[in-house]
Amino acid sequence: MEYLKKIKETILAALPPDTMISSVELEGPEVAIYTKNPKAFFQNENYVAKIASELKKRVNIRTDKSLLTEPDQAKEKILQLVPKDADIKEIMFDTAFSEVVIEAIKPGLVIGKGGETSKKIIMETGWTPRIIRAPTSPSEILKGIRLHLHKYSNERKKILQETAKKIYDEPARQDSWVRMTALGSFQEVGRSCILVETRGTKIMMDCGVNVASFDDPYPYLDALRFPINELDALIISHAHLDHTGFAPYLFKLGYRGPVYLTDATRDLMALLQFDYIDVLVKEGREPPYTERDVKEEIKHCITRDYREVTDIAPDMRLTFHNAAHILGSASVHLNIGEGAHNLVYSADIKYGFTRLFDMVDNNFPRLETLILESTYGAKEDVQPPRQDAEQKLVNVINEGLRQNGNILIPVFSVGRAQEIMLVIENAYRNGMLEEGARVYIDGMTKEASAIHTAYPEYLRKNVEKRVLQNDSPFTSPLFQIVDTANREAILTDGKAVIVASSGMLTGGPSVYYLHKMANEPRNTLIFVGYQGEGSVGRKIQAGVRKLPIVGENGRTKELSLNLRVETVEGFSGHSPRPELTAYVKNLHPKPKRILVNHGERSKTIEFSRYLSLKFQTNATAIKNLETVRLK
Ligand SMILES: [Zn+2]
Ligand SMILES: [Zn+2]
Repeated sequence: MEYLKKIKETILAALPPDTMISSVELEGPEVAIYTKNPKAFFQNENYVAKIASELKKRVNIRTDKSLLTEPDQAKEKILQLVPKDADIKEIMFDTAFSEVVIEAIKPGLVIGKGGETSKKIIMETGWTPRIIRAPTSPSEILKGIRLHLHKYSNERKKILQETAKKIYDEPARQDSWVRMTALGSFQEVGRSCILVETRGTKIMMDCGVNVASFDDPYPYLDALRFPINELDALIISHAHLDHTGFAPYLFKLGYRGPVYLTDATRDLMALLQFDYIDVLVKEGREPPYTERDVKEEIKHCITRDYREVTDIAPDMRLTFHNAAHILGSASVHLNIGEGAHNLVYSADIKYGFTRLFDMVDNNFPRLETLILESTYGAKEDVQPPRQDAEQKLVNVINEGLRQNGNILIPVFSVGRAQEIMLVIENAYRNGMLEEGARVYIDGMTKEASAIHTAYPEYLRKNVEKRVLQNDSPFTSPLFQIVDTANREAILTDGKAVIVASSGMLTGGPSVYYLHKMANEPRNTLIFVGYQGEGSVGRKIQAGVRKLPIVGENGRTKELSLNLRVETVEGFSGHSPRPELTAYVKNLHPKPKRILVNHGERSKTIEFSRYLSLKFQTNATAIKNLETVRLK
């Protein structure tokens, strides 16, 4: 491989002979240098930085396999070197990568001041530590994913090497064209899927399902005019099913290429995909793929941090930017053909205050085309100030509690659930929550919240600090986890505040509670998130008070809704029109073209007209299946 030869030459030229390099390998977009003298690297730390900046890549230093100590010995040594306070939960040896995976509650102590401790580990045991944070509350899914990746590390190494071959296969062609095709989420919300092609490269961004649709939930993969294994990469913006729900199907079809995403997105995505299968099975519908396909997909995940520039094809470079929508969510920047064209896919963004995340990052090195979401892009989509929204939510909850009623808040288990938990926890700490309230967390929200505690670096600084200091708001004593068996019991005494998925009452425990609570006027149902067209939630919001449901005998019966129904706006993970407008206004640099997507038909059309006039720019709302030539 021509490229590997070049990289080796660069490395050998930059490093003195005492670094004793035994081999250089490409692992996907990263470079691994194997050495017989790791000390040389860690006594002179400039080496790693120098090589990384010269190659513009992540560089991993590994000890030559012949020098690795026995795992048992190494484990003993590690436990001696790392202070007890680090609270190590797991030590796993990964021979394929000469790495030792150390999972700890306080990873900072495994790293040590200036990396002192981790350097000692590599010098004294030979194993390069890969240090990850253990969640502060146990998470089955996280454990499962980490074990799965460990179990298949040999295969993962091969996958990464195959990926590297594709990335560096041929030199990029300068005269290439660029085009994108809308495969889903254009003039609609749901099934997000975008194809970006050049002469030599085919990339897909997101591959979602429309969970609110029964008859047409999947993106137009049938419009692809090539076999799926010719796809070079799949990029995932964030974990929500409308962006990831159909991704495992690509693996079912035989796709075996990389999936680029953030580490938090990988774990939340798997959680939601497994649940999607579950929900469909329980409803007697056939899932489009199986757990096996999800597991195959996880093996192919390559995680990247925000602002880390990554080569993903000979003519494409990917960078994720914070989108402040859910944990790990990103806008996607593609630099195509050495800067010949720059495309930003905003994906779902929240350009405004949230309790969970720092501000959106809309500073890009270059930008010609922007694909912009418009979930709340209509004129009337103005949300109240955040403070008012929080006050109203607390008021409505308290009114219900004073009547001794139960309160149901249906939420998306990832994102809205944690935002609402933080609002309630904040009210509780400040004495604003009515006495005697018991707050229950049901459904996947528990797992999703645990995953938040494993990746605090994605959270707003003050929340991150609380998680790091073992005062995680997600594990506050205020919150009680519901066992499926206890669901009925928590309703009997009243004063239960239930935060449960699904957010649009399309399945999951929120539907169970609605059925149990519907009849009683003292109870309250509070909507805090987007209700998709056709969903049960949308119907109730529109005033429907009689719902056909399947009774215990399997026959359809009518459910009368006598409970109080409220909608509290202002908690959305999406930006209302004024924020979307501000996002465009403050974008750096200004795009030449805006393609509006991820909104209901009339909203995307009207919003794109509005943007065209306001910014004197070319903004359009294209339809699914349309192809636009970008260059
Ligand atoms: Zn989303
Ligand atoms: Zn979305």
